[in-house]
Amino acid sequence: MSDSRLALANLLFPNLPHTPESLEILYPPRNASVVTRVGPSPTGFLHIGTVYTALLSERIAHLNGWVFYIRNEDTDDKREIENAAHIMVDGIRKFGIQIDEGGIGPDHSDMGSYGPYSQSKRGAIYQAYVKELVVRGMAYPCFLSEEESTTIREEQTIAKQPLGIYGSYSPWRVATLEEVQTALLEGKKYVLRFRTHGNPSKRVNLHDEIRGDIEMQDNFMDTVLLKQTGIPTYHLAHVADDHLMRTTHVMRGDEWIASYPLHIQLTEALGFTPPKYIHIAPLCKLEGGNKRKLSKRKDPEANVEFFFEQGYTIEALVDYMLGIMDSGYEAWRLENPDADYKTYPLSIEKLPLSGALFDREKLNSIANNFLTKLSTEELQKRGLEWARKYDRELAKLMELSPELTYNALDIERHTEKDPRRFTVFSDLRDQLQFFYEETFESLKSSVPTLPECITPEIQRAFVEDYLKAYDPTMDRDTWFEQLKTIAHAHKFARTGEEWKTGEYHGRVGDIAMMLRLLLCASAKTPDLCYTMRVLGRETMERRLKG
Ligand code: GLU
Repeated sequence: MSDSRLALANLLFPNLPHTPESLEILYPPRNASVVTRVGPSPTGFLHIGTVYTALLSERIAHLNGWVFYIRNEDTDDKREIENAAHIMVDGIRKFGIQIDEGGIGPDHSDMGSYGPYSQSKRGAIYQAYVKELVVRGMAYPCFLSEEESTTIREEQTIAKQPLGIYGSYSPWRVATLEEVQTALLEGKKYVLRFRTHGNPSKRVNLHDEIRGDIEMQDNFMDTVLLKQTGIPTYHLAHVADDHLMRTTHVMRGDEWIASYPLHIQLTEALGFTPPKYIHIAPLCKLEGGNKRKLSKRKDPEANVEFFFEQGYTIEALVDYMLGIMDSGYEAWRLENPDADYKTYPLSIEKLPLSGALFDREKLNSIANNFLTKLSTEELQKRGLEWARKYDRELAKLMELSPELTYNALDIERHTEKDPRRFTVFSDLRDQLQFFYEETFESLKSSVPTLPECITPEIQRAFVEDYLKAYDPTMDRDTWFEQLKTIAHAHKFARTGEEWKTGEYHGRVGDIAMMLRLLLCASAKTPDLCYTMRVLGRETMERRLKG
């Protein structure tokens, strides 16, 4: 070990509480064969892709023995938002994903023996490793100013060289201890860079558990490890944390493949055993015939809050995501419609290698299946929970008239003709609004016009006869026969033949439409016979005559 390197390391990092050796003792290897994690950055925005990664990582850990933890990757000081880490933890847990360690304790305190689980609280750990690298000649302080870096980039552009700080383009790579001391005394700002031994003409073979061997150019950049603020870059934090937290499988977005050679170099430089890597293809959508990553900026559905607001059930979202991860899942689900997804032996072998399309139609069909199967009691209960948060007015009405709500929701459910009216909880408003007086009143202001053939006189006369004859205990067929008979008596054709004779004002369908519009102020209602039953005679009279 060179004395000047040791002197430099002590100059830069005097009095650190840890050394790499003491850290090994503090965070011993775990007694678990699989340790996975998710490392969201606390942006206050929970990306559906983060939930996808968390679900996958949790499943793989819990199916194979044992730990899944969450790490708060708050190293981007600019992006930080208050409480954002809590939003991440709470959002992920809302999906029923069981997190074993991380900020999951009371008031989001850390739980687990491998913390702290927020990178911002791990400064002394990162410093211990960088200090070690400085001692070993594998890291150095770089005092380049913005302007100097720009000049270097310009030179590289002219010389058609890769842009960045490396080799002969890095003056501080070869600085003496005295030069560093002078710069420090002058109060110059600096970052700590990795001093790589990588070679641009060398190819390296890296292994990915789903992609196999990947051949890549070796890393030859002296990448920043600690920023001017002392905050680590993702690269250092990832290598240090996943080592100390004893992660066995790193599942992360495939945008990190590009830095994989650097991560392996850093891992080797620090004498760690690398974890297994699984680079996950992002969730995509089609735009103008082209596939592109779901974008936080452009796509509302990138944010899980979008799905909560719409009222997608967690069960549907989870089933949908598992189906993307493992093509065997869908068939299993068909055979085991009521089984807990946690009993499915999910594996990483079938993970898609290129971006899977986030297919809303598919999701909707799963969501519809789920709500269709749910009991009406459960639909009402969960629908109300959703409405309390996302549609307060509806929640109030549901609470005021629980029986009416139940009956309205229950129309034709679980019958052979079940119209499967509910895909998401926000469908409840469309399906319930004409049953409540309050919302019916506001619907009435925009009621579509009645069929032209129905004059006020015809309407009055028909309604009078109809109400006299109406009997809520009639079965649906009898009800319909009766409607036809009364309509016929008022000169509405029951068949095409009759209509062709020209002796009728209109057809029975016009009468049914009139009833629908008068009763519900909407052309789209559940089956009219059952709707009438739920509304009851009193409401029918008021609406038909009003
Ligand atoms: N914080 C990183 C990100 O948000 C996590 C990557 C990883 O899982 O290592 O992309």
